[in-house]
Order: sequence, then structure tokens, then C-alpha cells
Amino acid sequence: KHRVFSGIQPSGGLTLGNYLGAIKRFVDMQDQGIETLYCVVDMHAITVWQDPEALRRQTRELAAGYLAAGLNPDRSILFNQSQVPEHAQLGWIFNCVARMGWMNRMTQWKDKAGKNAEKASLGLFAYPSLMAADILLYHATHVPVGEDQKQHVELTRDIAAKFNNDYDVAFFPLTEPVIEGAATRVMSLRDGSKKMSKSDPSDMSRINMTDDADTIAKKIRKAKTDPEPLPDTMKGLDDRPEARNLVRIYAALAEMTPDQVLADFGGQQFSAFKPALVDLAVDKLAPISTEMARLMQDPAEIDRILAGGAARARAIATPILERTYDIVGMVRG
Ligand code: ATP
Ligand code: MG
Repeated sequence: KHRVFSGIQPSGGLTLGNYLGAIKRFVDMQDQGIETLYCVVDMHAITVWQDPEALRRQTRELAAGYLAAGLNPDRSILFNQSQVPEHAQLGWIFNCVARMGWMNRMTQWKDKAGKNAEKASLGLFAYPSLMAADILLYHATHVPVGEDQKQHVELTRDIAAKFNNDYDVAFFPLTEPVIEGAATRVMSLRDGSKKMSKSDPSDMSRINMTDDADTIAKKIRKAKTDPEPLPDTMKGLDDRPEARNLVRIYAALAEMTPDQVLADFGGQQFSAFKPALVDLAVDKLAPISTEMARLMQDPAEIDRILAGGAARARAIATPILERTYDIVGMVRG
């Protein structure tokens, strides 16, 4: 039986990378009729500083993004992590299963802590262990993520395997990452070697789900490219990361393959391709941002949806956590 879990941090506004790499594929999986749980991982977000008011707003805005993009609270379980305390409880058990060396090898840790690891929070170091708890608390079999999270899902498998081995049980599943589509790693619009991120200091590096048409047009027009025309196939973009990124974005938005995009645009200059990309991006994103703005008018309704989802999530999580406690040897009355 398949069960899908994934999450996004309310660590800023949603980007096109989050939409194409995660949310759009969350919707596809929901629409395939698979059991799906999608979380707003607020406890992950505070591994770096979040202003409390901003965190509240970003949590509701992310939930609004889920809904506006097509997630349906009757078909998917939509909730925020902190309303299901079992995530933290299982996370602690996994902190005692995972090894320091495993965490030290995580590229997200190295990227986010940078050279100043002494000043990073302990939570940032333990991030992958909490993420393993998010997934395994539901015995999720599949996790749709962008390419940057592949290493964390593999670590989740390592934690599951070590737990099963240490306690001599066949309890936690070995979860599969699902990394599919043309835009599994959307790059910054300013630097083709950097991932587009909601926490990037430069707003010009990303398209936000709440950007209006003029802003989207300006950001795409100013996106870094090169002076060559587009080639006829993706092979011709092997050493042109910025051009490759724009073609992949187009393909993901249009639900085409990148080679199909180049079949249409091969030989053309960016002066022709960029306006077509602007039209496509505005066409696909404007309805979502309009709906997000409408939903944000009624934050109490969003809070109700998250609370309802949390109750359903807990119903799945509680027996799995209780069984985990029994396996570990925790006494309960
Ligand atoms: P932050 O910069 O705070 O880490 P983020 O934009 O990386 O924010 P996350 O909440 O860390 O967003 O990730 C949520 C999901 O979005 C994950 O599945 C991640 O792989 C995916 N994702 C994030 N950025 C991209 C991107 N540039 N391209 C494709 N998928 C992405
Ligand atoms: Mg991230």
C-alpha cells in the first residue's frame, strides 16, 4: 500500500522552485488517488531564526498555496507539523539512532551552516533526523521532493534500517524518494550554479508564487542568460546552466519535455524565448496567486483546515509512536 508524505518549510514565501519541484507534484499524487499527507513544517523552519509574526503569516500563506494549487483537504491530509507533537517525540528517538557523522555529511547542513557551524543551531544539525521522523511517523512509502532533498530521504532510509537492526524488528519501511519531472532542481535566475530558494537574500534570484505579472516579467527579462541562440536539443545546453534552467522551467510549466520545448524554440534568441516564458509563467501562476490572496482574507478558515488535518494525522501517528515506544522499552501507564 502506498502512502505519500512531504512537507515545505514556512521559512519565507513560496517560490517557483517549490511549486514545480514539490507542490505541483503533490497535487498529481493526490489526483492519482494515493493516500497523501502534506505538512507545513514549521518546526523545521525555526532551525534558522524566524520572526514569530512572520512565521505565523508564512505558515498560513504556505497552506493557502497548497490549497490554491489544487490540494483538497478532503482528499489530502493538510496540517502544520507543530500541531502533531508526535513528530518531535519520534524525532528525539531518531536523534538517538542517527550518528553525528551522518549529519556532518549532509550538504544542506554544510550549505546552511557555512563556515560558522559553531553559531548554527543544534536544530539545524538535527534537521534530517526530524525529517526522518516526519516521514516514518506515518510509515510513508513515497516522498515527492526536489533533487536537493534526495540525500535527506536516503538518510531517512539509513535511520529506518538502523532502528530495525538495533531493535531487531521489521518496523519502519525503507521510503523511496520520488524525484520526477523537468524541474526537480530549479536554479537561481541570477546564478545558474545555485538552487532557487525562498531564503535567498536576493528577491531577483527567484519567482515568488505571490509575484504579480509585472514582477514576473521583470525577473525573467533580467534573468541571466548568454548571447547564443537556443539549440535544437538539450545536449546543446550541457555547459549553459542558465539557459538550461529557463528551458526546464518552460517545460515543467507547459507539461512538455525540455526537448519538445527546444523543438519549438531551437534556433531562436532569448529575445523571443523570454517573452514566451513570461506569458506562460503568468498564465499558470496568476490564478494560483489570486486564489492565495483570496484565501488569506480568511486566516481563521486556514487555521481550521490545518487543525482538522492535524487531528487526522495524529490518528495515524499515535499508534505508530506507541509501538515505537514499546519497541524501545519506554514504560507507559
Ligand atoms: P529554504 O531556502 O528555506 O531551505 P526552500 O525553497 O529550499 O527553502 P524547502 O522548504 O527547503 O524550500 O523545500 C520544500 C520542497 O521544495 C522540497 O521538496 C525541496 O526539494 C523543494 N525545492 C526547494 N527548492 C527547489 C528548487 N529550486 N527546485 C526544485 N525543488 C525545490
Ligand atoms: Mg530548502
